[in-house]
Amino acid sequence: MLRQYELVEKVRSYDPDADEGLINRAYVFSMKAHGSQKRASGDPYFSHPIEVAGILTDLKMDDLTIATAILHDTIEDTLATPQEIEKLFGKDVARLVDGVTKLSKIEAQSENERAAENLRKFLLALSDDIRVLLVKLADRLHNMRTLHHVQSEEKRHRIARETMDIYAPLAERIGMYEMMTEMQTLAFRQLEPDAFASITRRLTQLHESGGDLVSRIGLGLQLHLADNGMEAEVTGREKHPFSIWKKMAERHISFEQLSDVMAFRVIVEDVEDCYRALGLIHQRWPMVPGRYKDFISTPKRNGYRSLHTSVIHDTKMRIEIQIRAREMHEQAERGLAAHWAYKEGKPRADLNIPWVDELVEILEHAASPEELLEHTRMAMYQDRIFAFTPKGELIQLPKGATPVDFAYAVHTDLGDRTVGAKVNGRVVPLRTMLENGDQVEILASEAQHPQPSWLRFVATGKARAGVRRFVRHKERDETIELGRKIYDEIVERLPAELGQDALKRALKKLHMEDEDALMVAIARKRVTDDEVMETLMPGSAGADVAPRLPAQRTAISIKGLTPGVAYHLASCCHPIPGDRIVGLRREDEEIEVHVIGCDTLASGVDADWLDLAWGEGAGGAARICVILHDVPGALGVMAGILGQKRANIVNLHLVHRDGSFQTFHLDLEVYDLAHLHTIIAALRDADPVSSVERI
Ligand code: MN
Repeated sequence: MLRQYELVEKVRSYDPDADEGLINRAYVFSMKAHGSQKRASGDPYFSHPIEVAGILTDLKMDDLTIATAILHDTIEDTLATPQEIEKLFGKDVARLVDGVTKLSKIEAQSENERAAENLRKFLLALSDDIRVLLVKLADRLHNMRTLHHVQSEEKRHRIARETMDIYAPLAERIGMYEMMTEMQTLAFRQLEPDAFASITRRLTQLHESGGDLVSRIGLGLQLHLADNGMEAEVTGREKHPFSIWKKMAERHISFEQLSDVMAFRVIVEDVEDCYRALGLIHQRWPMVPGRYKDFISTPKRNGYRSLHTSVIHDTKMRIEIQIRAREMHEQAERGLAAHWAYKEGKPRADLNIPWVDELVEILEHAASPEELLEHTRMAMYQDRIFAFTPKGELIQLPKGATPVDFAYAVHTDLGDRTVGAKVNGRVVPLRTMLENGDQVEILASEAQHPQPSWLRFVATGKARAGVRRFVRHKERDETIELGRKIYDEIVERLPAELGQDALKRALKKLHMEDEDALMVAIARKRVTDDEVMETLMPGSAGADVAPRLPAQRTAISIKGLTPGVAYHLASCCHPIPGDRIVGLRREDEEIEVHVIGCDTLASGVDADWLDLAWGEGAGGAARICVILHDVPGALGVMAGILGQKRANIVNLHLVHRDGSFQTFHLDLEVYDLAHLHTIIAALRDADPVSSVERI
């Protein structure tokens, strides 16, 4: 165990300004607090926090972190209180100790809970201060080093698995490869004792047969570079048992077939030398295709920089080589800790930690350690946000995601029934972009269904698919309905009354399966109106044939059809109910509705014109659907807004009420579309209003 003065000396060796008194006081306090507690090894418990502090001095952590390490188990395992810690060691240490304590509680809880609520704590603790995580990792490392003292096999397994699944990837993520490797080796030994033993045995055999191959090859590399006038430090190592085992498992090969068991590191002065060294090595030994990676020109997200390559060595063995400059090496070895800027003076508190995002994803989704490690190697997502369900479950979404995306991410069914959302307790419009850490409550109603208009703002494929699925389903019905309306209009244009079997015969001639198929074909203009007329009544489509009815035709009503399904409203002129409209019909497209007088129509388009009307009831008004929370005064608020915005309510109809929500259809007289939009925006902003959509 490190003695008090040794610990202080170590810290002062890299940070002469460290607060000696703080470390001394922490040492004494922790020793007293833990008293006669014992570790599983039989050592005094107190040895543990001191060793943890020791690990952190290797990483050259600041005095606050060291004090935190010494105190990290006092809250959880002794009578010491947070107030005491704060009084004696200050706010910063108290906050850090509290952070570590919170992380420790995660271990104590069940696996299920860990996946959800705890991830959040993890995330918050991480975002709060990276030093908390470093203490936690050092704590875990020391526990792993002493794990063999633990009696219960079940407990040893659980801890090893957790280390493999959570802590080793965390260490890797922040660039602490040494710590990661040690954790993996120790965990692997517990989890797969047979594989571990077999790999270590074979590694020993390899040494015995090949002598010290690693140093011989390493020396050869160094000499080759020196012959070409380049000074480099070359170190070689065998791969760690766990990474060998992983490769064997990944590639389904035996140890004997595994060629690159050895890895070398070439450390040179600067970036230029890195590429020179690479060139020299490739000139001398053939490179293995596909293994060259340039993390200098494109560093990993955690800042890791190095050149990686594999070559076929004289011994016919494939060897892995990493080439990096000294400065890159230091950073790689000490990871994030290297940023703790003793070169530059004070530690930076404002560390930007983008990998937290990926970390959470890894923790949440990885099924096995192997998969997890695969994930950690994946390109990082820069554009993710994390939001929480009211129960604390973490939902990962792309940036720009809205409550609708959130709802679909939770469950398709929930997405389909979404009427509104509360973000951090406040009702927001459905198009609101979510932010990292938002807590989102989806308000759902059985009466709701996906709105085609959602497609304008949803950010996820799942939400888009949800809306499209619904639209597709509805599309056929509405297309049939629209086709039938057009068909009825065609029939009216015929010069005589239609015979009984005329339709049946027409279907046959047009090779249509049934009436519905014909109606779809008409709506989508897969058959022309003339063709339909001709097949219904030969000779009727001729220009010289007088229609039975006068030329004044009834416009086709689009009442009851959903915009965006069988037809869509043109974005050039934004027709609203009350506008005189015309439909453009092109082959295999939705009918496009324009306001008569729209420039698009004037410019002449290649499409059939369809005389359309909004249908009865619409009048000169726009119809909107408003869903209100069923709370006293909600209706008053809505009426107030409408009055203020000078919208005249022509008709108000309560469509649905289910205890939580009241759904209204409102026909509003508006000046124009802009006016309508202001009204909708104002309604959406109001608290009791859950959602507003135009119908
Ligand atoms: Mn501990």
